[in-house]
Amino acid sequence: MYTKNKRISNMIKALGSCQSLFLIENFVIRNHFIYIIILMIALFQTGCSEDVSLTLKIPKEGFEVVQNIPMDAVGRDQNALYLDPRRIKQEEFNSSELNTFIDSMYTIMLRKEGVGIAANQLGKRLQIFIIEAKVGNPRYKVLGPVEKQVFINPKITNVSKERKNFWHGCLSAQGEKRGNVATFKWIEYECQNKKGEIQRGRLDGFAAVIFQHEFRHLMKGTYLDHANHFLPKDELNHKIETGELSFFELASDTLPLLIDGYLLGENLENY
Ligand SMILES: [Zn+2]
Repeated sequence: MYTKNKRISNMIKALGSCQSLFLIENFVIRNHFIYIIILMIALFQTGCSEDVSLTLKIPKEGFEVVQNIPMDAVGRDQNALYLDPRRIKQEEFNSSELNTFIDSMYTIMLRKEGVGIAANQLGKRLQIFIIEAKVGNPRYKVLGPVEKQVFINPKITNVSKERKNFWHGCLSAQGEKRGNVATFKWIEYECQNKKGEIQRGRLDGFAAVIFQHEFRHLMKGTYLDHANHFLPKDELNHKIETGELSFFELASDTLPLLIDGYLLGENLENY
C-alpha cells in the first residue's frame, strides 16, 4: 500500500515537474515572442521615423522647390523652410552622396534661373547653399557676375557698418511680391567645402546680397517674414528703370535687416 502510494506520489511529482517545465518553457517562449514583437515594432518604427529631410538622399521623384507659408498660417512646423537645418557631419564630406546632392541643388538652381539656392528650399534640413550669377542671367545682369561657390556649415564672422537695400525675390516665393530689405555691404565668412576643408573669405556687392539671402534661409524663414515694403515685380522694374525707386543703394538703419538676430561667429544650429 505504502509502495503504491509512493509510486503514485512520485508520478504526481514527475507530472508536476513536467507541468512546471512546460509552464516555464511556455513562459520563456511567450516572453521571447513578446521580445521579438517589441524588437520588430522598434525596427519598424526606426525605419518609418527616419526623417528623410535630415538625409542626403535624393527622392525618386526628384526635388520640388518648397514654397513659403505665411507667418500666421498652419504647417510651418512641417515645412523645411522653418525648421532647424543640421550641420554636415565629418564623415559625410568627400562622399558621393554629398557631391550628388550638391550637383542636384545646382541643377535645380540653374533650371529655375536662380542665383542661389539653399538645401532647405529643396526640403532638406542641411546647412548647405550655393550662389552663382552668370553674366547672361537676364534678371541680374546689371549687377555683374558672381562666381559659383558652395557653402557648407557656414557662419558669418564679420560685417560692414554699411548696409544696402535690395528688392528680394525667391524661388520659394513664387507669385509673391518683391520685398525691400537691407543686407550688409560686405560680409566675411567661414565655412567648409565639399572635402570638409575650412574656407574663409569676404564677399562684397551682389555676391554679399545673395550670400545673406541664402544664409537667411538657413536661419529659417524668408524675406517675406522681414520686409514691410512690397511691390509686384513689373511695377518694381518700372520704378527702378524710371529712377523712382532706389536700387542697391546705402540703406538706413530703419530698413529691416534680412539676417536680423544673427550673432557674428555663431553656428547656425545655435541660432
Ligand atoms: Zn530664396
